[in-house]
Formats: sequence, structure tokens, C-alpha cells
Amino acid sequence: MTHYRCNRREFLNLSGACIAGVVSGPWLGAAMAAPAQEAAGTPRDPDLVVLNARVSTVDSRVPKAEAFAVKDGRFVAVGRSDEIKGLVGKKTQTYDAKQMTIVPGFIDTHNHGRGEGLLYNVLVGNPYDVEFVTIQSIIDKLRARAATTPPGTWVEGYFFDDTKLKDNRGLNAQDLDKVSTEHPVVVRHRGGHTGFYNTVAFQRAGITKDTPNPYGGTYDKNEKGELNGRVTDLAMATLAKAGPLESFSPAEKEKRVSNGVAFISKKFVEYGLTTVHHNEPGVLAAMQEQRVRGGLLHRVSYEPAGDLLEAMIQNGIESGFGDEWIRLGATYEHTVDGSFSERTMAISKPYIGISPPYHGNLTETQEDLNAWAERVHRAGIRLNCHANGDVAIDRVLTAYERALKLYPHGDVRPKITHCSLINDDLVRRMKALNVVPAEFSTYAYYNSDKFHFYGEEMMSHMTAFRTLIDAGIVPSAGSDFSPGPFSPLMAIQGMVTRTGWNGETWGANQRISMEEALRVNTINGAYNSCEEAIKGSITAGKLADFVVLADDLHTVDKGKIKDIQIVRTVAGGSTVYQA
Ligand SMILES: [Zn+2]
Repeated sequence: MTHYRCNRREFLNLSGACIAGVVSGPWLGAAMAAPAQEAAGTPRDPDLVVLNARVSTVDSRVPKAEAFAVKDGRFVAVGRSDEIKGLVGKKTQTYDAKQMTIVPGFIDTHNHGRGEGLLYNVLVGNPYDVEFVTIQSIIDKLRARAATTPPGTWVEGYFFDDTKLKDNRGLNAQDLDKVSTEHPVVVRHRGGHTGFYNTVAFQRAGITKDTPNPYGGTYDKNEKGELNGRVTDLAMATLAKAGPLESFSPAEKEKRVSNGVAFISKKFVEYGLTTVHHNEPGVLAAMQEQRVRGGLLHRVSYEPAGDLLEAMIQNGIESGFGDEWIRLGATYEHTVDGSFSERTMAISKPYIGISPPYHGNLTETQEDLNAWAERVHRAGIRLNCHANGDVAIDRVLTAYERALKLYPHGDVRPKITHCSLINDDLVRRMKALNVVPAEFSTYAYYNSDKFHFYGEEMMSHMTAFRTLIDAGIVPSAGSDFSPGPFSPLMAIQGMVTRTGWNGETWGANQRISMEEALRVNTINGAYNSCEEAIKGSITAGKLADFVVLADDLHTVDKGKIKDIQIVRTVAGGSTVYQA
């Protein structure tokens, strides 16, 4: 049996996979107009030349350029404006960038971007940026939903952030009792590892203050020892029994998922993302449908879970299967511990100010993890585990070391999603396996209000871009949306400053340079899915994915990077977003 390896020679697909229905504008269809079979690297009669730009190529051989040419969806020449001008042919469109900055299309290596939820769910917080809300606004929104929901059926709120409340106190069960005494009600934290429930939900699930915590989760209590409404990690599974979710016919469901794909794809390119690693089961068919309809504007590394992962194992489909638009990537994040933002990750030192001492939640035993890793890796599918705390990362590395030793397949780049709290020993073991971490990208900016829960000593080893890069590891940017906003510019600002929206700076020792932050958000993302030969930099022969920015990343005030306007996003030579 042959196995997918990252160092296998990539076939350059020159047949010109094209997308229809892109944003109208001067470049509409440009990439598809020319005959498709000319060899890449032949710069005659390009479809498009871009001149007079400040190009950060992220290609270390030619880091800066003024111009480039695109043909059949790929870059065919990169250089000075006078050189590239000489390539203009009869059908070539010319774009004068007027000294604007151009960078490669951004890549997000961990994202649960399910547009369906954004379109149809009750959103009690702002998915895209820092915004404070009141508990009353949450109650009002959920009451409105309860009014149209049959009694006994769940009423759910999404995108809650416990540190973005104007009330200066926590959300509790009594607040949610005001929503309904006939419906189970849950407000889901955007981090995905905690929920806040009303009394009806606990009653219907048979949970009282005396119910012991299950493995890998907690039913939290107030000072009086009563259930306060907050439930963590695996304990949420017990609450799910409290009632049915709103249901839809298969046709309705299909339509919702498909509309969701089109919605979020538009959002991604609006923020400059041209590739996203998708962690959400059940949307592959909708993505393919939207691709045909012209609604898929970004490239997808699809991370399989459940039935799909099983089908791949059973039928010999390995990571890397697919094409330049939709490709099967590493597995869905196999979850080993709790959350960073919700403070349930498994850490060796106890959390500050919690008694009895709390070390977070481990949600998978070493034995089960070893068996899972062995089976998946053996099938030629790239490993990917969610591990935040040092205790969880140790457990994942143990399973990876074992699986890769049992079945050596060469350079397979096992992935660790988040990989938040590290130490020297973990870094050494990661380097030895060439583990590719997908680090939280926007947290340094967005979640700076939560870092006091860990303290500066721990934060100096958290989301440790500086340490990882210095060790020769290739960290990439994984927003984890919903938990974090997905704006790559917000991510870059946090990486170079380590300063958050509230002005607090944590772990300043982990700052990286602008050049490094650009790499983390582009070429390192391509490396993460073993696609660095075809994307991630502005290099002749690679896919023409790039972003035009209104300001220069290198000269703008570092505190204003996130506000730079995205002027245009281009995927495969076609404009997919225009301001
Ligand atoms: Zn995730």
C-alpha cells in the first residue's frame, strides 16, 4: 500500500479549475479566458499583470517585488514593473496597484466556519469582533426564539463570551429561567466547551446538585453548593437528553447547509482568506454543490470526522485526495482536553484561585488515544488532535510517537490543533516528529481579557510563536472560529504586539516580526496541509491567490493593523472580493 506523504511530488494541475460567479469587475473571467494547456512558467500573453505594487511575496528567494503576471490561474512571473510590463499581450488586463501592498492569500488552518449557524441561529454575541452585550439582551433574543419554538424543544443561543458582558457578573441559571419555564434553554460559549443552562434543562436531564461530575466534565456550583447553570466539556452530553433540537426535513436541512457554505465563503474572502481548513462534519456535499454554482470562493482543506473518516479508512482514501479547491486534509481535531478561553484545558499547574485545586479536563484516555492514532495513521490519514494544555499535548505526542514508530511513512506532518501551553521537552518532541501546530491566531488580541486567569508566567509559554519558530517548528494560524474571530489582520496584530483590545500585553516574549507573522498566516498554512508547493507565496508556478491591502503592513501603526482595509481578494487569478 502506498501512503500519502508530504514530500511526494505535487502534480501541478494546469487544466485551469475555475470558479464561476465571482464578483463582477475588471478581472471577471480573466483567468478562464485563455487556452488552458500552456505550460506554467511561460509568461507570454498573461491574462493579467499587476504593476506598481509593494509586493511582499513571502518567497525568501525574492521577498520583495513590484509586479507580477498571472496566466491560467497561476503566477507566471514576479519581478520589477518594467520587466513585467514587457510581457503584456493583446488580451492581457493590466492593473495599476498605485503602490498598494499585495500579500499572498491568507490561510486559516483551523476553522469551524459553519455558515448555517451564522445564518439561522440566535447569536447572542458578535462573531467577528470585540463587542460587549448585556444579559438582558441575551434573555430578550432567546425569549423571541422561544415564542416560535414548541415547548420541550431546545432554545439555544450562540457566540456567548463570558468576559464580554456589560453586567460585570456571570450569566446563571436564574437568568435563563426568565427565558422560559417550558423549554430547556442553553447559551453556548463561543469556545464550544461550556454551556449555561436553565433549571428546566437540568430537571429534564435528571441532574441535581448532588449528581457527581462525569468523566471529563463538571456541573458547576455557586457558593451555596447549588447548580449555577454552567456545565463544562463532556458533562454537556448528559444535558443534551433534556429535549429534542429543532428539526428540519432533509430538503430544508440541505438548503440551510448549502446557503451557509455560500454565506461563510463570502465572509472569508471579505477578510482576505483564500484557504481555510474546515473542521465541520456534514458540509462536503454542500461545498461541492456551491463550487459548481460559483458560491465557493475560497479553497478548502476538509478535515474528515465520523462516517467520512471511517469511509476513508475502509476504502483507502488518504489525506491529499481532491484538487486545488477541495482537498481532504488531516483528520477533524480529535479532542483530548478542554478549552483555553473557557479555562478547562488540562494543565500541570493548577488554575489560579480555584479550590479545590483544578487542573482542567482531560477528555480522552491514553489507551483510547493510542488506538485511534495507530488506526488513522496506518490508513495514510494525517493525524490531528485538539490539545491545549501541557498535560494534553504530552498525551498526544505519546500517541503520535507510538503510531509513527509502528508505521513509518516518511514526512507525514502530524497536526496538533491549538498546542497552546508548551515547555522545552514538548518542543523537542514536536520537532523530532515534525509536528505542525495550528496555533490560536486572534486570541492575543481578542481574548486578552482572559489571560489573567493563567497569569504572566504561564502566558509566556502560551501560543508560543517565538519559541516554536526559534525551534525550527512551522506554526500556522488557526482561528478556531467560532471560538476566535477569523480576521487574519487581527491575528497578525496580536502576533506582532501580543497586546489585546483592552491594552493589556501578555507573554511579550512570544512576539514575532511582521515578516514572520505574514509567513504564519500564509506559507506556514500551506505547509500545514502539505501544499506549500502550490500555494502560500507569490511565486511563479503557484496558484494566483493574493490580497490587495489599502495600507502597508510594514509602516502602519502596529495597533491599527486589524483595521487595514482589504481592497481586493483574488483566488486563482479571479477577483472573489472587492471593497
Ligand atoms: Zn476547534
